[in-house]
Amino acid sequence: MDAGALIGNAVAKQLRPVFDAIQRALVKRCAVCLGRRIAWEKAHADVMEMAWLKACAERGIDDAADPRAPGVDFIPHLPAQHQPGDPADPARVPLIALALTTAAGWDVCAECLPGIVSEATVPARPVLAAPNVSAATAAKLAAQ
Ligand SMILES: [Zn+2]
Repeated sequence: MDAGALIGNAVAKQLRPVFDAIQRALVKRCAVCLGRRIAWEKAHADVMEMAWLKACAERGIDDAADPRAPGVDFIPHLPAQHQPGDPADPARVPLIALALTTAAGWDVCAECLPGIVSEATVPARPVLAAPNVSAATAAKLAAQ
């Protein structure tokens, strides 16, 4: 490996936590999903703590004050019965989706925007929407 690659790798390793923190601050997540996740984390604090400790140990983090610690993904270290899956199963950790839009002051994902976009209202076949197609034309195309 050349010196440039070594320096680049060293800089990238040091800046990774900073970029991760910036990304977490800029990306909007669904408030409803977040509420479900907070409730799950409160109900499963012991399971989550064990998974988080395992994830930290895997990354060589042995101090909770380590700036990398808050960004450690504990989900892969959860026991099988708590892995993401059927959202109706209260044992499964709810994932936090990206926010799609804002409704009534809440940033929400498509699944958490009932009555507007959900599995029940998504067309069976995809609708190609172009910016210059009116809503009425798009509806006609979707009905075909
Ligand atoms: Zn959501």
